[in-house]
Amino acid sequence: MYNNIYSPWRSPYFSSIDNDICVFCNISKQIFNSNSINYDNNCANNEHNINRYSLPKKYRNIEIEKELYVFYNDSLCFGVMNLYPYTPGHFMLIPHSHVDSPSLLSQEIWLHINGIGQRAIAMLEEYGASGINMGINIRQAAGAGIPKHLHLHFVPRFESDTNFITVIGNTRVYGIEFKLIFDKITKLAEKYLY
Ligand SMILES: [Zn+2]
Repeated sequence: MYNNIYSPWRSPYFSSIDNDICVFCNISKQIFNSNSINYDNNCANNEHNINRYSLPKKYRNIEIEKELYVFYNDSLCFGVMNLYPYTPGHFMLIPHSHVDSPSLLSQEIWLHINGIGQRAIAMLEEYGASGINMGINIRQAAGAGIPKHLHLHFVPRFESDTNFITVIGNTRVYGIEFKLIFDKITKLAEKYLY
């Protein structure tokens, strides 16, 4: 396990968490009320229209999203910063549904998340990543941090990665203000993901 010594964001993230509920479900519950939205589920044509899952702003609580470091939120999935980042800008895309494998999602949701993921890669390129690791650990045996709720990792890589990350024992040191990174990603998300 990695212990992150730079973690001022941990308390608001974890303080509201009920021990019995999954961390990601807890975020989902706070940022998306599935009963309040009636999005247009009909495509005008056969092309996948990624924006049809957008949540109108009136159904979102931007303040809570910010508090939880959620930079993207639609009716099928959300994007949140990783609290134990491998590099500055490491985030995850997560379905609102509590499933532990893509095999349990409808193909529609799976394709939608990957469509957002493709845009997220373009977003990280503008963010300044020289390379990107994208990946999923499916269930505990594969090393998933939160094995019961599927999440896709996006890790921007930089030529100078080693300047950002110093490994001291099992502690990763994080040198850049987390909040500033979140603000930058949020701004880029407005341009690329919505
Ligand atoms: Zn969950």
